[in-house]
Amino acid sequence: MVIKNCKFLKPFHINAIVLYPFILYCDRQPHSDIIAHEHVHIDQIKRDGVLKFYIKYLLEYFAGRRKGMSHYQAYRNISYEQEAYNSARAT
Ligand SMILES: [Zn+2]
Repeated sequence: MVIKNCKFLKPFHINAIVLYPFILYCDRQPHSDIIAHEHVHIDQIKRDGVLKFYIKYLLEYFAGRRKGMSHYQAYRNISYEQEAYNSARAT
């Protein structure tokens, strides 16, 4: 289920987020690249399961932070994010 115009995400610098089964977009008309990216996450959740997705996602993020990565570096280092960015680039 898609929810657009979620302005409360903006202060957190989040353009979109999957809170399964919802996809929240900050903008009223999100860019097609962002839509494609979020749909990769939906596919990942359907493939791996909701719990595994969110647990692995958070563990990899905090592992990156513990290694001294910035928020953005740790975010981009998450395997689900790498897959989503690589997949979006391939389309
Ligand atoms: Zn993502």
